Amino acid sequence: MEVVLTADETLMSNHHGKEFLGFGTSAPPNWLPEGLFRYLFFPRIKSVNGFPWQAPYGLRKIEAKLVDAGIDAGVVYPNDIANHGAKVLGIYVMDPFGWGPSSTTFAGIMKTGMPYNAKYFELLFKSKAYEKFKERGGKTIVGGPGVWQFKYNMEFASRYKIDCIYDGEAEKDVVELFEKALNGEELPRYVEKAPKDAPSLDEIPEIKKPSVNGLVEIGRGCPRGCHFCSVTLRPLRWYPYEKIEKELMVNRKHGVNGTILHAEDVMLYGSKSVIPSEEKVLKVNELAKKIMDTIAWSHASFAAIATKPKIIEKVAEIIIDEKQSWWGAEMGIETGSPELVKKAMPAKAKPFKPEEYPEIVKQAAGVMTDSNMVPACTLIVGLPEETDDDVIKTIELMDDLKDFKSLIVPLFFVPMGKLKDRDWFKEHEMNELHRELLIKCLRHDIKWAKIIANEYFQEKKSQLLLKPLYHLFIKIIEWQGKKKGVIEERKVFETPYTVGK
Ligand code: SF4
Repeated sequence: MEVVLTADETLMSNHHGKEFLGFGTSAPPNWLPEGLFRYLFFPRIKSVNGFPWQAPYGLRKIEAKLVDAGIDAGVVYPNDIANHGAKVLGIYVMDPFGWGPSSTTFAGIMKTGMPYNAKYFELLFKSKAYEKFKERGGKTIVGGPGVWQFKYNMEFASRYKIDCIYDGEAEKDVVELFEKALNGEELPRYVEKAPKDAPSLDEIPEIKKPSVNGLVEIGRGCPRGCHFCSVTLRPLRWYPYEKIEKELMVNRKHGVNGTILHAEDVMLYGSKSVIPSEEKVLKVNELAKKIMDTIAWSHASFAAIATKPKIIEKVAEIIIDEKQSWWGAEMGIETGSPELVKKAMPAKAKPFKPEEYPEIVKQAAGVMTDSNMVPACTLIVGLPEETDDDVIKTIELMDDLKDFKSLIVPLFFVPMGKLKDRDWFKEHEMNELHRELLIKCLRHDIKWAKIIANEYFQEKKSQLLLKPLYHLFIKIIEWQGKKKGVIEERKVFETPYTVGK
């Protein structure tokens, strides 16, 4: 092969077919031995003829683009990079140094060292395979959504002789870049593409081999403009049904029988505004369900669900059957404060007003509960504009969401998007209100994680054995929480707050 593509071991996993377990890769070492933790959260993807059966979607896109251009390229396990005689290595990154929101939050709270994603990323570069590849004069190109972290750590790039770091959607340039590398030409050290340089739909190829958990993109970009998000800067593009169908079929033909429809807001599929198109959302789900046994959504928004709640009821009729009893998505609540919505995420509530945002979240939560949609939600802690009053409003919203079957994960602010020049929120900046919020989330999550874990592992008999192990993990967290006095209700947390006190 001329080009090998890979990612570290935390990404070369399908997390037992349960994408949400991938969150575990951002945890630092903890109470479970590393081997057991790895088995539970990021076991290696099984091999087919010596190659990974599934691979991260981003790698599959690059592979397809290179193969279409006549370059002999393929995805390999990280320890195989020197075994194919390749001259160029492409590495895909999500959170290479553990500086993403979930890693920094875990690390700040647990204080037990480097997150696994960062550890395994560095292990790739320290491996004998990488050493051998470089000794032969191989060139290394790194890309992917987490590549921005290199801006703060170019020393790492020098230490491990990384030739080029590519920041942006790569489909337009990737062939030229890899050809240059194959010809032994000098590569640009750091390429940063502007959102206006994003590829058109025609320039984005269809994947040729299966993606992790059958994930297929249905669109790119987001119209909401949250200040802390880099996705929003990119143009909004929706894939036509035919393109989506081809990728679903690639996965199905290779034995992947579930899919994750990926977009920043699946509810907005095919829409040019923030108003969902019922016809298009139903059609894309029908298409996916015709081909796949199970469907999940990567992301959806509370505002879109509250705008057209009937869509969720109808999607439930399409998705839920004898093969799946619920479906999931990641959803950003981010805050319960209308003031903070106005300041940092002005279009988050649209077409409603920011003042209505907490009500929108509650309404959408009710719709999802009634339709067996179970999301993993995020809250942002420590946004630069955040005040104590904002945190109190979020705490109040958490109280209202206690019966919402969901996981709600607080994440520390990380400088991205329009706020990329601000500083990370650090654990030592947490005040009592932040702690109260984190504790509320922990209680909510332990309660619902036990219930969700039961359902999560019911679909496949082979996974029934895993269930007790996850229950054990939840029990350990609960036990730690009790030991630290944060799980049981305590009087101190019931004290009403006074703003500015
Ligand atoms: S809604 Fe989500 S994807 Fe869209 S801009 Fe806001 S944070 Fe980014």
